[in-house]
Amino acid sequence: DLQRSLGAHTVFLEPGPLKERFPWLNVEDLGGGSWGSREEGWFDSMGMMNGFRRAARASGVEYIDNAVTGLDLADGRVVSVRLATGQTVACGTLVNAAGPRAQQVAAMAGLSIPVAPYKRYSFVFASANPIPGRMPNVIDLSGTFVRPEGELFLTGNTPQGDGPADYDDFEMHFEEFDDHIWPALWHRIPAFDALKVQTSWTGHYEYNMLDHNGIVGFHPEVRNFMFANGFSGHGLQQSPAVGRAVSELIVHGAFQTLDLSPFCYERISRNEPFLEEAVI
Ligand SMILES: Cc1cc2nc3c(=O)[nH]c(=O)nc-3n(C[C@H](O)[C@H](O)[C@H](O)COP(=O)(O)OP(=O)(O)OC[C@H]3O[C@@H](n4cnc5c(N)ncnc54)[C@H](O)[C@@H]3O)c2cc1C
Repeated sequence: DLQRSLGAHTVFLEPGPLKERFPWLNVEDLGGGSWGSREEGWFDSMGMMNGFRRAARASGVEYIDNAVTGLDLADGRVVSVRLATGQTVACGTLVNAAGPRAQQVAAMAGLSIPVAPYKRYSFVFASANPIPGRMPNVIDLSGTFVRPEGELFLTGNTPQGDGPADYDDFEMHFEEFDDHIWPALWHRIPAFDALKVQTSWTGHYEYNMLDHNGIVGFHPEVRNFMFANGFSGHGLQQSPAVGRAVSELIVHGAFQTLDLSPFCYERISRNEPFLEEAVI
């Protein structure tokens, strides 16, 4: 209802209509399913990011390809940023947008946020049996998702033993597919009984261990240090809104068009979760 009230074309289908619309789906153990019936889909994440980057450059933003290794503070403000190559950049406002490494940058200012890298394995597979018709992104109760990727399919899940990983740990766990993902896929979509993985990779969610939600806003004591962190695997879809909110905080000192105050840093220090339960 909330999604529809905001203009999304979400419909809830009981098992019968769900099966009629998607005959390849096993609905026996389902009470129904929700479906974005129009204007829903997926996009190329790097394409979107490069679009943002080009627009930012056209507006005068300078990108420096370097690593931040230290911050200098004076009177409760970050006054300069040290880079791996030895240069120092003077700092008006610092926005921590370091993704899974957010805590490393926070620690440079003596701060702490409960954000850590959580490993996620992605698998692209071929199916001997095609899925007839247009297949949406399917998110199963087991936490496994699957969607078409050209002739192939892309899948992933919440892996076993989920928890903080080392920053440089990108080792694959191939058994996650055989032992957990494939059985879940086969149960939900019986046509997926003959699959072959074509390619796979490991990525890191920037996981907010308090409430799986973004942290957006200034720190109350280090007053020019802003967080844009902890999006917990849903940061792409939130990035246009977060970018706008961050720029409004920098330019106006307050949110103007979108009130993102529920995402403020203060909830972290007060230990008051703003819980996001829909994380896949
Ligand atoms: C497998 C997988 C699937 C996902 N699927 C989705 C999805 O379907 N929908 C969705 O909305 N989101 C998805 N996400 C999450 C999404 O990718 C993230 O939420 C998003 O990329 C976060 O953006 P960010 O800019 O905060 O951080 P990032 O994109 O991680 O960027 C952080 C940047 O900071 C840089 N950096 C780090 N430390 C330093 C330093 N010390 N100095 C300089 N630079 C530094 C890094 O090199 C990097 O370029 C997925 C993530 C994964 C891993």
